Amino acid sequence: MDIGSQRFNFFGTTLWPQDLTLLATLFMIAAFGLFFITTFLGRVWCGYFCPQTVWTFIYIWFEEKLEGAANKRRKQDQLKLTPNLILRKTLKHIAWIAVGLVTAITFVGYFVPVRDLVVEFFTFQVSFWQGFWVFFFTICTYANAGWMRSIVCIHMCPYARFQSAMFDKDTFIVGYDTDRGESRGPRPRKKDPKTLGLGDCIDCKLCVEVCPSGIDIRDGLQYECINCGACVDACDQTMDRMGYEKGLISYTTEHKLEGHQTDIVRPKLIGYGIVMAVMVGVFFTLLSNVQPMGLDVLRDRNQLFRMNNEGWWRTPTP
Ligand code: SF4
Ligand code: SF4
Repeated sequence: MDIGSQRFNFFGTTLWPQDLTLLATLFMIAAFGLFFITTFLGRVWCGYFCPQTVWTFIYIWFEEKLEGAANKRRKQDQLKLTPNLILRKTLKHIAWIAVGLVTAITFVGYFVPVRDLVVEFFTFQVSFWQGFWVFFFTICTYANAGWMRSIVCIHMCPYARFQSAMFDKDTFIVGYDTDRGESRGPRPRKKDPKTLGLGDCIDCKLCVEVCPSGIDIRDGLQYECINCGACVDACDQTMDRMGYEKGLISYTTEHKLEGHQTDIVRPKLIGYGIVMAVMVGVFFTLLSNVQPMGLDVLRDRNQLFRMNNEGWWRTPTP
């Protein structure tokens, strides 16, 4: 995105402000793509592609490596700070800021030549505005992925709200099999839960601890759930440990959980798919018709130059 020259380079094609229709078409493809994917697979955008989620999980990775798993962190945060814990917390924040800085430089690099930006930034020769935006996006990344996390998804993201409106009973969601899991409760590993009147959920709460939105999926489908599947992995580990079949929490559909067949091909999905395909066709047709340059050459009617008496070439006096 070459803001200075007001143009956008797209895989070898240069687009100018007058090619705005292409951008509008691209937005329509994105919108219908979202409707299609969300109706089919649920909130996979939120779970796997949204930068907020991706960066949150990168930050959680550092947190787990330096401070341990969620339940360990919770316990040690209630104890007195030790020099070792202070050191690990400091390293975590340094790592978070470093990730934020790389993110910010990369982002600003979409708008200004990135090689120059890196050199100038680290030799303190960067211009005020470039330095400001690098600083700004570093802080935003650090605050969003380090501190705010699910607050952004639950209270700030409009996208999160309207995606849930596209769900139907055949949409894939992360769901807890209540029939299989209840009644929940701890039990000795070797005992058959049926003889104790229990289901397969041992109530270890691992699914709640790993959830970036802080919800309990066992309470049913909730709009806070971003379909990240962290609880699926956590519960599968517990099932493995107990020697039970995996999939107490799984990617499933409401119909399947109710014991019915999941209907994949349905009119709503076909409709969204057709409109999306049409828009993709329109986009590429418009793209292939982009004129690289429009140029009108008009001959100047005046004499362009003449030789004077001294033998010098002169342009006419304006
Ligand atoms: S991780 Fe599985 S077994 Fe543990 S509380 Fe959650 S649903 Fe129950
Ligand atoms: S409930 Fe499970 S899938 Fe939903 S946000 Fe929490 S961890 Fe992710």
